[in-house]
Amino acid sequence: MSSSVEKIKERLSIVDVISSYIQVEQSGKNFKAKCPFHNEKTPSFFISPDRGTYYCFGCGEKGDIFSFVEKFEGADFMGSLKLLAEKAGVTLEYDKSNNKEKDKKELYFEILEEATKFFESNFDKETTPRAYLLSRGIIDSTIKSFRIGYVKDEWRSLSDYLTSKGYKVEDIEMVGLIKRSESGFYDRFRGRIIFPISDSSGRVIAFSGRIFSAQGGPALGGAENLESVAKYLNSPDTPLFNKSNVLFGIDKAKNSIRKRGYSIIVEGQMDLILSHQADFTNTVAVSGTAFTDSTTDGESKINNLGLIRRITSNIIFAYDGDSAGVRAASRSAMIALALDMQVKVACLPEGKDPADIIMENGDTWKNIIKNAVDIITFHLDRICRNTNDIRIRGKQVRDIVFPFLVLVKSSIDRSSYISMIYSKTGIPANAIVEDFEIYERNHNVNNNIVLKNDSVEKKKELIPRRDSLEKRLFGIIFWQEKNDIGIKKENIFKSLKEKIGEDEFERIYELHTPFAEILAIETEDWYNNKTKDIPRDVEEIIVNLEEEILKERLFLLKDKMNKSKNQDVDLDSLLKDLQKIGERLEDIKTYRSK
Ligand SMILES: [Zn+2]
Repeated sequence: MSSSVEKIKERLSIVDVISSYIQVEQSGKNFKAKCPFHNEKTPSFFISPDRGTYYCFGCGEKGDIFSFVEKFEGADFMGSLKLLAEKAGVTLEYDKSNNKEKDKKELYFEILEEATKFFESNFDKETTPRAYLLSRGIIDSTIKSFRIGYVKDEWRSLSDYLTSKGYKVEDIEMVGLIKRSESGFYDRFRGRIIFPISDSSGRVIAFSGRIFSAQGGPALGGAENLESVAKYLNSPDTPLFNKSNVLFGIDKAKNSIRKRGYSIIVEGQMDLILSHQADFTNTVAVSGTAFTDSTTDGESKINNLGLIRRITSNIIFAYDGDSAGVRAASRSAMIALALDMQVKVACLPEGKDPADIIMENGDTWKNIIKNAVDIITFHLDRICRNTNDIRIRGKQVRDIVFPFLVLVKSSIDRSSYISMIYSKTGIPANAIVEDFEIYERNHNVNNNIVLKNDSVEKKKELIPRRDSLEKRLFGIIFWQEKNDIGIKKENIFKSLKEKIGEDEFERIYELHTPFAEILAIETEDWYNNKTKDIPRDVEEIIVNLEEEILKERLFLLKDKMNKSKNQDVDLDSLLKDLQKIGERLEDIKTYRSK
């Protein structure tokens, strides 16, 4: 494996890898970018092509191509290895001799891969599953690329196959393929067409099975009567699969999402596959999983929704045209808006799902996506279609539209929506404004939308940017005490004291001195004797540090002002200080834009 890693590193430059995910710009010998791992307006994410590493002065993220892909995609090391090997055209050589202590996770992946092959070969042996898919408009090349399979309605066909290959029952159970009963165990998926679900690197992590009997009789899916059997059955949560973190089709969609600058979310497995077949390869499906408001998994790794948002914030929901679909789309849109995404909703004819539409005519689908509208327009049009009664319209606007309108931050946008409500519904404008004011008073937005799990980005903001700036700067200072690196600490001190003041300088100098040795080593390692960039970096770090300190002071001053109402405080001098800081922050902005 280590030889594969070396080969991949030889063939892929770090700049190529990172720039396939985010925009980078050259900056001297290095490249810089806005950090994908924390929110920032000015780039503090540096890439060193010579060393094959990246480092963020803002949040401290650092590493090589493998760790970048892991972090960005929320993949594990093997997943990022697989992705980069494909990019580099390197065949991975697994070390078979080391089989005894094989990593459990790798074993699970292997079992699922074997199961996928088993389902595929069963599919090829039967004629009716294929005939069924063709009748639903799915063509052969799609069946192959999505690796669609089939399993007969038998109790143990898959588990017999896997145990004959030497896999243990406990491991097969761990990946969700068998269930236990008092009399032993049996296959979870029986009498179903099988759709594999993959992680972002394309490894199968779970399955979704649609009930189907190739024998022609009633498809029982193993249950006693058809009524009690779910049409679609998904794998349970396993060490590899957590349904709230996964969007189906992510492995096939992510590159296309980046190229097209938006993603399409559909509900069902069939919708997903047909949308891809109709050339909308930027589609993913929630398929039976809830669209949750978390962008990370339990280990704070980015999940599929987080990955999509990292690639682009433009998202189109194309759910079924029935009322359940509209409700689901509204819920999802609310979540995406709370995640600061640009949300649109596709208007599907009532009672139809994307799969039906695409099968009838691919161009209709194209138009539906093209004509997707923002969620407020979507609901207004629906309300106006459903009723002419102005009182009912008014009530529905309050119940359905206001919860979204209240999320609109810009007052210009709000008033243009209000005039849209007026022109579409015929409700008098002043009545809308009045109603909305009442609604707004009763629904404080900030309290209304609370994300259950903070995103990685949000958590990162809490790690002070200031701390990592100071560490880098003092790293340089302590390093130059021992080596000539083309910059003198006296000059740094002078400029620093000027910018942040003597007191603040003394305070942070004392703070970092005990760690002089380690900071110097870290910094030396980062620059790897390429000291030419240091003077420019120092200048940049000092400006950034000053900005951070000013922002802190600004915050404290504002806090003081808020609390000053009933106290005896010199408001005049407070205001003067505020103004001074504001002006200096503006100066820094101007300096940056030069
Ligand atoms: Zn960062």
